Amino acid sequence: ATPTALLVGTGRGAQLGILIKGPEVLESTRAVDTVVLDKTGTVTAGRMSLTDLHGGNEVLRLAAAVEHASEHPIARAIVTAAEERLGQLPPVEGFRNVEGLGVIGEVEGKTVLAGRPALLDQHGITIGDELAQVKAAAEERGATAVVVARDGEALGVVVVADTVKPTSKQAVAELRALGLRPVLLTGDNTGSARAVAAEVGIDEVVAEVLPADKVDVVKRLQAEGRVVAMVGDGVNDAAALARADLGLSMGTGTDAAIEAGDLTLVRGDLRAAVDAIRLSRRTLRTIK
Ligand code: ADP
Ligand code: MG
Repeated sequence: ATPTALLVGTGRGAQLGILIKGPEVLESTRAVDTVVLDKTGTVTAGRMSLTDLHGGNEVLRLAAAVEHASEHPIARAIVTAAEERLGQLPPVEGFRNVEGLGVIGEVEGKTVLAGRPALLDQHGITIGDELAQVKAAAEERGATAVVVARDGEALGVVVVADTVKPTSKQAVAELRALGLRPVLLTGDNTGSARAVAAEVGIDEVVAEVLPADKVDVVKRLQAEGRVVAMVGDGVNDAAALARADLGLSMGTGTDAAIEAGDLTLVRGDLRAAVDAIRLSRRTLRTIK
């Protein structure tokens, strides 16, 4: 390949809001046939807000007290809503983040858990029919239900929801038009993942994947003979971004993701992923 054409491609990328780590990156996009898209923060805005509360302000107060120590978008939504409604929150001690499941801490001398039912399960807490129904209904709408327990008892559910970025649907359509297969990958629940996938036009969904297992999904697709581009923004996407044949990081995302990727989509707009793949194809045609 002529380095000049690749460098020109790199310069053109910068104009399009795509930062390319090295000229050789453009070559590796050529054979890509599958684009794995992280859900939260990549396809969606990643700015969650509280939409429903079951169990009253006490449930919100306890959840927010524990989530105060977490930086997850879910945690930020819960804390913001609680501070607006309830003012100051009680302090948390012995905080623990359980990757991909939720949070645990001591509030007012009692153990409080907030997260997926699987987290409560691990502590021998069952959520009961009523809360299970609230959770299922929330997920059907594409929202995420956080179950809250205190001292071994499930008390209620806090529902948070994110919005799909306005440009995501068009970007997915353009990826398809280029002959690429989009796959939605998320740690979030299957119901919510399917609702978001339907909204943007994706039919292949891999949900409820623990952060450490995202990279395995990429490996599995590669083992099937697919050449994989991965688009992500989170710390939990970094290994998958590094493993993918082409890693595209959202410029609006975490440093870990940006470091792991081959190129950065500066504005965090999924359409730039389409531009990057088009640019690479054009650059390589010039070279041949
Ligand atoms: P994603 O792949 O969408 O970025 P994560 O792997 O970060 O999601 O989280 C997966 C799921 O774990 C979330 O949808 C949520 O149900 C639960 N979870 C993770 N962190 C928290 C938290 N701080 N509070 C409550 N639930 C959480
Ligand atoms: Mg994410």
